[in-house]
Amino acid sequence: AATTAHLRSTDLEHRIARDPARFRVLTGDRPTGPLHLGHHFGTLRNRVRLQELGVEVFVLIADYQVLTDRDTAERLQEYTDGLLLDYLALGIDPARSTVFNHSAVPALNQLLLPFLSLVSVAELGRNPTVKDEIAHSRQSAVSGLMYTYPVHQAADILFCKGNVVPVGQDQLPHLELTRTIARRFNERYGNLFPEPEALLSAAPLLLGTDGTKMSKSRANSIPLGATADETARLIRGATTDADRHITYDPETRPGVSSLVLLAALCLDRDPHEVAAEIGGGGAAALKRTVTDAVNGHLAPVRARRAEYATDLTYVRSVLRAGNERAAALAERTLEEVREAMGTFR
Ligand code: ATP
Ligand code: MG
Repeated sequence: AATTAHLRSTDLEHRIARDPARFRVLTGDRPTGPLHLGHHFGTLRNRVRLQELGVEVFVLIADYQVLTDRDTAERLQEYTDGLLLDYLALGIDPARSTVFNHSAVPALNQLLLPFLSLVSVAELGRNPTVKDEIAHSRQSAVSGLMYTYPVHQAADILFCKGNVVPVGQDQLPHLELTRTIARRFNERYGNLFPEPEALLSAAPLLLGTDGTKMSKSRANSIPLGATADETARLIRGATTDADRHITYDPETRPGVSSLVLLAALCLDRDPHEVAAEIGGGGAAALKRTVTDAVNGHLAPVRARRAEYATDLTYVRSVLRAGNERAAALAERTLEEVREAMGTFR
């Protein structure tokens, strides 16, 4: 599935470049911790690039979705501030892009009700990403939100009629469900929604320091906002293997290869070449290379981040303005949905 989506992405890239004004992007993150390199190479870079191409970009801070895999949302304000700092430091421009959060846009959340009627319980239960997240969940019991949040994501994407979604690989099942919901709505009630396409990056699944998907809630990530020293320490602790000769072979050597890939992405080079240069230097040489590459690549981002951090009043005003724009748009879409459904007048 990843390969076909990737082939589709190349074609999509061409269509976007030809006519950026025809596209609208929705992406987002949960405020569950600091954004990391998986986000950077998996989706953040693509968001900024699309913005620069002239595509309208919506970025959602998905605060309600924090509760999918835990009982309560902790440190929401701190994580939300962190996300905003990362977006601004990476180049999201509030004059051209809209940053907003769920809890400030009630009309968006209301779309969840009609959308839930368009999917079966069996479809919700089959979702492989939901299954993986249940396995890592911190909840005392698996909640209904865990099964229904992909439908909530359909509301996130469709409220603004987003037709491109730059995501990591874990989001592909959710995007497929959004397409299904859009199609069924259009069939039942008349054509209203686009069927959005996934835009996968070159690194749709970056692994963390423990060799599983890098996730902000799994204590295996390298945060964008970490210091150079923290970064060095995190990389030193990464899982490797006993073979001193460094190669790039993601299938059989996931730990070593994800480090090689990280360096290659930061240096904008081919991972096989990076691995060949380290050769018999072993894990220590590999980790030194990765640390230098990451710290070098992130230095300007971190400098801008520190600057924005001195003005949290401005940073938070970006979210307030985005919330107003998103709320107005959501009201309009909800009105169209009610009209199309011909009820509740
Ligand atoms: P959490 O562990 O709290 O779920 P997360 O690290 O999975 O956090 P999300 O906020 O769930 O981050 O995901 C935000 C976006 O980043 C999604 O589009 C997702 O596909 C992408 N993403 C997250 N982790 C990675 C990764 N390791 N590699 C590539 N893309 C990723
Ligand atoms: Mg996640």
